[in-house]
Amino acid sequence: MSNENKTIHEFDFQLICDYFSNMERQGPGSPEATLKALSFVDSLTDHSLIADIGCGTGGQTLVLARHAPGQITGLDLFPGFIEIFNRHARQSGLQDRVKGIVGSMDNLPFERKSLDLIWSEGAIYNIGFERGLKEWREYLKPGGYIVVSESSWFTDERPAEIHKFWVDAYPEIDTIPNQVAKIHRAGYLPIATFILPESCWTEHYFAPKIAARRIFLDKYAGNKTAEEFAALQAMEEELYTKYKEYYGYTFFIAKKAGR
Ligand code: SAH
Repeated sequence: MSNENKTIHEFDFQLICDYFSNMERQGPGSPEATLKALSFVDSLTDHSLIADIGCGTGGQTLVLARHAPGQITGLDLFPGFIEIFNRHARQSGLQDRVKGIVGSMDNLPFERKSLDLIWSEGAIYNIGFERGLKEWREYLKPGGYIVVSESSWFTDERPAEIHKFWVDAYPEIDTIPNQVAKIHRAGYLPIATFILPESCWTEHYFAPKIAARRIFLDKYAGNKTAEEFAALQAMEEELYTKYKEYYGYTFFIAKKAGR
């Protein structure tokens, strides 16, 4: 469920949940990319408080939990995802350290200045990159980290078709230097950025998404809304294949500056 889904609210929540809940992750990424991003975060302890915002079914949250100490709260708007999240946490024996809760990223249920790390893969676009950076900063302890992945342009110019698609879907997409400047302006020290490799899209996201689509279309045969939603998902894959030199996902790792 990456940025292209600007029309997410036009579709029934249950449909979307049905489609994506068969997948380990709901956006581009991989365990390797999660661990690489985590390698830039120091100073976590058993007492650290970590939030994974827009956690989905929690594929990346469990990777985090296996490699970082502390208590992790995953937060997502979709109760169906959180149900799966908590089931997976229990099945992995991590339920004492990992908890999924239903909530919205524009009204976080955490204490101000309480978090050591805010994690968010492929989800901050729902609130908007700059707004999310600014609002979430309030919940971080001084010196706390934020790690987000977000769509980026790789060039200053690009073909009209892909430009239009993104400007319609998520006008806040920007080039990496502009995004780093936004991080700095929002009150953070940029620590690192890296582009997610293509396999994070093809192998870890599109392949399971294509399999999920078959199950979904079987179940909803004849349902126009479902077919439309599935077609939008297929378009996301086609556009990526055609224009991957021009855009992708970037991991941004930054540290809260000041108080
Ligand atoms: N981080 C996961 C999921 C990314 S998809 C992964 O990388 O696999 C984006 C997620 O954001 C979805 O699970 C969606 O339900 C969630 N989301 C959308 N709007 C939200 C909001 N306002 N508050 C919290 N979560 C939201």
